[in-house]
Amino acid sequence: MTEKNVVVIGAGVAGLTTALLLSRIPGYRIVVAAKHMPGDYDIEYASPWAGANYMPVSLRGTDAAEWDRKTWEVFNELALNCPESGIHFQDEDCEIRNRSKDVGSATADWFSELLSSSPWFKDVVPSFRTLSKEELGPGIDSAINFTSVCINTALYLPWLVSKCLENKVTFKRAIFRHISEASSLNIHPSGHVDLVINCTGLMASKLGGVEDKTVVAARGQIVIVRNEVEKMVNLSGTDDGDEEACYIMARAAGGGTVIGGSYQKGNWESQPDPNLAVRIMKRAVQVCPELTRGMGIEALDVIRHGVGLRPVREEGTRIEKEKVGNLWVVHNYGAGGAGYQSSYGCADAAVRLVRAALEVKTKL
Ligand code: FAD
Repeated sequence: MTEKNVVVIGAGVAGLTTALLLSRIPGYRIVVAAKHMPGDYDIEYASPWAGANYMPVSLRGTDAAEWDRKTWEVFNELALNCPESGIHFQDEDCEIRNRSKDVGSATADWFSELLSSSPWFKDVVPSFRTLSKEELGPGIDSAINFTSVCINTALYLPWLVSKCLENKVTFKRAIFRHISEASSLNIHPSGHVDLVINCTGLMASKLGGVEDKTVVAARGQIVIVRNEVEKMVNLSGTDDGDEEACYIMARAAGGGTVIGGSYQKGNWESQPDPNLAVRIMKRAVQVCPELTRGMGIEALDVIRHGVGLRPVREEGTRIEKEKVGNLWVVHNYGAGGAGYQSSYGCADAAVRLVRAALEVKTKL
């Protein structure tokens, strides 16, 4: 069988997962080419900044829900059997607390499925339950609880690279102004490219030949601390404005506890806002006093402040194939705040399109 030559643009969770799934099928020579690689921290590179956890925000009956469902199967398996991937179940469950006063806020809209007492994923994740009235804290109107995972992105992204390398994927630094450059520049060792997979995240809004202006930034500011917690907590909103959020999760294998956050649409500011950082920390110790054993934010031991931009696309993640000039392109970008929790489902859908575009007939 003649090998097909493929360039994946992007080494975030979308590009790496897509390259990994494609590399498991014989017959492809794959190069991942990107401006940023795991180990880099940059405002144009969302993946290192994510919490990251599994908290589906996709709506029942949509493709997105199916992508999330497929991804849980893999995360569950990795958390059970592959500690070196940097994914773990937290000791206690993930709790989503809903305040009716948040109805209509940016976070509550984003969380609408999560705030339902009967979301589609209740039969997918383990130990799903709705909390009784007696269990709700002050100001909380309802809450759900389930087993989730938290991913230490500083371990998981390099782990994805190592899995790709095992399957003979090669990696190259490159910056493309136009998507066609992935085939015209000297990127692939064969000198010929059959197909390009576009996993450029937010920068799909600027890449020539794509320039998808429906992809916008939703700025997320976080604080990573050494303090430990056993429970993952998320609130439907805050009293500090529509664009702020409150969540706490502990990364696997000494990755620290991530506290957030914000969801500031259209804001590209790369530097942490110190006032927002104080609000984030105050909310976290209020919602989760065990973080500081009842003390104030001065008892938080900060490792780092950070800012990442979620690549939010109006119509949701774009998984499509198209011809750009004579070049086959498969898109997988625009996952917003769900790039990890949808990663295997999206990558699987993208791989099917690659095979369809290149008319590979064998069964998956
Ligand atoms: P990116 O990670 O941004 O990668 C894009 C890649 O494309 C990079 O390698 C970049 O260098 C490359 N690239 C772009 N343009 C070019 C070009 N022209 N030439 C060459 N290379 C190019 N998701 C979850 O599922 N769970 C969470 O808990 C979660 N929490 C989050 C918290 C925060 C604070 C943030 C910011 C995000 C969070 N997310 C979460 C969302 C998740 O991080 C993103 O959806 C995901 O990282 C997007 O991955 P990506 O691979 O599409 O894009």
